[in-house]
Amino acid sequence: MNQESYRDTWAEVNLTAIAENIRAIKQLYQGKDVDIMAVVKANGYGHGAVPVAKQALKFGASYLAVALLDEAIILRKADIQAPILVLGRIRPQDVGVASQYNILVTVFQAEWLEEARNYLSPEDKIQVHIKFDTGMGRVGIRTKEEADSLLEFLANHSKQFSVNGVYTHFATADETDTSYVTEQHERFVRMLEWLKKWNINAPLIHSGNSAAGMRFPEKTFNLFRLGISMYGLTPSPEITEQLPVKLKQAFSLKSRLVQVKKLPKGEAISYGATYRTEKEEWIGTIPIGYADGWLRYHSTNGGEVLVNGKRAPFVGRICMDQCMILLPEQVEVGTVVTLIGEDGFDKITMDEVAQRLETINYEIPCIIGQRVPRVYM
Ligand code: PLP
Repeated sequence: MNQESYRDTWAEVNLTAIAENIRAIKQLYQGKDVDIMAVVKANGYGHGAVPVAKQALKFGASYLAVALLDEAIILRKADIQAPILVLGRIRPQDVGVASQYNILVTVFQAEWLEEARNYLSPEDKIQVHIKFDTGMGRVGIRTKEEADSLLEFLANHSKQFSVNGVYTHFATADETDTSYVTEQHERFVRMLEWLKKWNINAPLIHSGNSAAGMRFPEKTFNLFRLGISMYGLTPSPEITEQLPVKLKQAFSLKSRLVQVKKLPKGEAISYGATYRTEKEEWIGTIPIGYADGWLRYHSTNGGEVLVNGKRAPFVGRICMDQCMILLPEQVEVGTVVTLIGEDGFDKITMDEVAQRLETINYEIPCIIGQRVPRVYM
């Protein structure tokens, strides 16, 4: 264990898979002047931001991205020196802290800059990335008027604010219909023209997430914000077949049986007694529950685990810290149970689990709680 833990449930993070994913994706840009920005927000999509960031930097990424200033500071405190971009809006009053830690910040409001300026000392300088909203509808500049007032401010305050990048984000890069990506790309190209009037030359221009960066290298400019596929996951099942690289899932979730019992027909399992044994059955208990992010929905929507390479369904309601499975046969207490990952010839993928919860694979490792230790291999 890389972290002190006394429990029989853990997540394995295969750092070699992460290195291989980056290497394979980087190959797509061989000979081109495009850098990789590894997206490690939300604690590296639940994989662990610091180990993932270090591995990504070692195997080909040159930049990092997070959602929050707090996340950026965690990386700096772990002795990571690479440039880090905060993708979300930081509070203007925190700009001095961002400058102190040499963090790149996202800007899209002239008023933000005016207020932030009051929190920078004359010696402070902050590097910014301008965000354009080309159709995601989340954050960013939408009109030329907004752009002009922000760019005028930046042009007049270049001692305190320097423009390091300009970017946008695609809303549908993971869908088979590519028409909206094209529309957003064209809008972005037109918006980039707005910078010329103010003589602002950003060294970095970026638009691509995993889906866009792998599918549309011609629309990725000179920096590729690589998130989900660095972790070996597809941006969406509908484009998996079209992806030009074979990805390796890095995250597995494991536990061990803490009790195995033979119950006669008709015995109730868990709260609400919603399951009753249908015949004489071997029931196993594992120490993971909804407080670990293993939601009750797993047991009501056909969820299964692997035990000695064989499928075993959840039975009864998942409790806060424990849950029960119907074993295919008698097995030893202490036997490993795979909730996500490979065992023998079978595999429970992140996509299978996501489908079970009627959600996307991104959500699954993010919601596996912090009390589940991450073990790095
Ligand atoms: N860029 C921005 C602005 C994002 O919000 C995200 C993730 O949501 C990414 C890049 C990475 O996207 P993906 O994980 O699909 O590669």
